[in-house]
Formats: sequence, C-alpha cells, structure tokens
Amino acid sequence: MQTEIYGLPAFADNYIWCLRRGNDIAVVDPGDAAPVLDHLASSGLRLRAILITHHHADHTGGIADLASQAPVPVYGPAGEAIAGVDHPVADGDRITLPGVGLELEVIDVAGHTRGHVAYYRRGFLFCGDTLFACGCGRLFEGSAAQLHLALSRIAALPPETLVYCAHEYTASGIRFASAVEPDNTAVADRGRQVAAQRAAGLPTVPFAIAEELATNPFLRCRQATVVATAGRRLGRPADDELEVFTVLRNWRDSF
Ligand SMILES: [Zn+2]
Repeated sequence: MQTEIYGLPAFADNYIWCLRRGNDIAVVDPGDAAPVLDHLASSGLRLRAILITHHHADHTGGIADLASQAPVPVYGPAGEAIAGVDHPVADGDRITLPGVGLELEVIDVAGHTRGHVAYYRRGFLFCGDTLFACGCGRLFEGSAAQLHLALSRIAALPPETLVYCAHEYTASGIRFASAVEPDNTAVADRGRQVAAQRAAGLPTVPFAIAEELATNPFLRCRQATVVATAGRRLGRPADDELEVFTVLRNWRDSF
C-alpha cells in the first residue's frame, strides 16, 4: 500500500504534514490541534503517531489536545525539553511509525534550535524550520556553523528528495535569492512558477533538493556569484564558505 503525504494548513503559513497509509495517519509538527481533529473527524482516519522536529510552539502547540484524544507515541528531539514527547530521538535513530508502517531515519539538523531534528526516508524529508525554499531557518539557539552543517547534510541527500518544510515562505525566499544572485535565471524561472502557484492558491511545498541546489543561496555559498555578493556586503573578500553563509544569514534577518 502506498503512503500518501499531504499538508493541512495551520496559522498564517504553517503546514502540518500528514503521512497516510490506509486508515492510519501520522502528523508532523501539529502546532494547532484543530485542523488535525477536523481532518480526523471528516475523514474517519485514525491518528497513530506524532512527529516533532523542534520545540517552537507553532510546531508543538497541538500535542496535548491530540494525545488526550488518542494516546499515540510522540517522537521528538532528545536534545529539547518538549511536553508530551515520550519517544525522544537522536541522530541516526530509526523509527517505525505504527499503523503507517514507514521507517524513518532521524537526522540532527541543529541550528534554528539547539536540538532540531529532521525525519528522512529515501524520497522525502521533513525538516521543520531548517531548510525553506530559497531560504533557511533563523538562528534562534544554534550557531551559523551548526546551521551551515545541517544544511550541508540536507544538500548531500539525493537531489530528487522532496523537502516538506513547515512554512510557506517561498515567495519571500525568492525575493532574497534574487537580491543575492540577480542574474541567476533558475531563480527568475522559479519566481515566475511560484508566483503562478500562489496566485492559484497552491502550495509551493514540497520541492526537490535539486531545485534548492540551483536557486537557494544558502546552499550555494561556494558559487562565485554568491561569494562575490557576500564580499560586497563585507567590503572585503569572505574568508571562507562559512563566512559567506553567515553574511547571507545576517542579511536575511533584516531583508
Ligand atoms: Zn521554529
């Protein structure tokens, strides 16, 4: 039986991702219980597991209500204290989702928060607030070096891997990518495609890692065009790839 993946919109721009096989589903980062409870009620599906990538409230706020309706395992990062997480996971762990039956690998992607994890299986990745389309998470707790390492790990996954991030930030990411690389035609092409998708009310997530390698400046810190832009921001050549990344991350915060 095939696993189906689809998103439930939450808050202004969050996605709560659902993995469904048969009548069973697992949900990723339910910041709000209401959309999940509505979905369960209207579909007749059974919630079998909850996956959490990091501790922020817009990813965890629905845990208590969901777990009180149906006692299910709640997987979450061992490196963060999150109420309701009863299956702490760490880098390299493999978990099998009850009902849904899928085995997922846990990848440490600390940076946005200090214990942030992602869940991977060949073909798809749930990365929370680590990688966005043409962007990446803000540095709340970790260092630029940590986030850079996390993004490098994601970039090394097979290019066809579909990334299910937790926010619809793509249009904003493309504006930033265009500022970093004004002559990158892949960014311009993606901008037109995303504008059409958003005008039609369609999500721009998931997206393939291959698209990010061509358009996401945070994954392109070794490209001459990106290095040159970082040098202009610094007023001198950047020392190394990490400094390029750090310049971009700081710029993005005030962009
Ligand atoms: Zn977050």
